[in-house]
Amino acid sequence: MSPYANCGQRTARTEDWACQWCGYPLLSRFYKKIPKTYKKLQEERLYRPPVVEETEVFLPQAPVPPPTIQIAKPMPEPGLAAMGGNRNVKN
Ligand SMILES: [Zn+2]
Repeated sequence: MSPYANCGQRTARTEDWACQWCGYPLLSRFYKKIPKTYKKLQEERLYRPPVVEETEVFLPQAPVPPPTIQIAKPMPEPGLAAMGGNRNVKN
């Protein structure tokens, strides 16, 4: 038998034979018994609100390879450079 109850959590049974989390009847001695009733547990939970966990969203990250950016380097054309050198033409 699975130690996980109807609610999917590992649980123990209360004094009134219920899942300690959801109150689902656990009619088996397999479960560990806790010396409290489900109602008592609920009351305790009311007085002690659950700790609000920081909501961290873990997105499943697919391994995305970095995009290969190929920058076309502007090649100085030797012809233009030569022309620039010949700009100093006296008028
Ligand atoms: Zn349960």
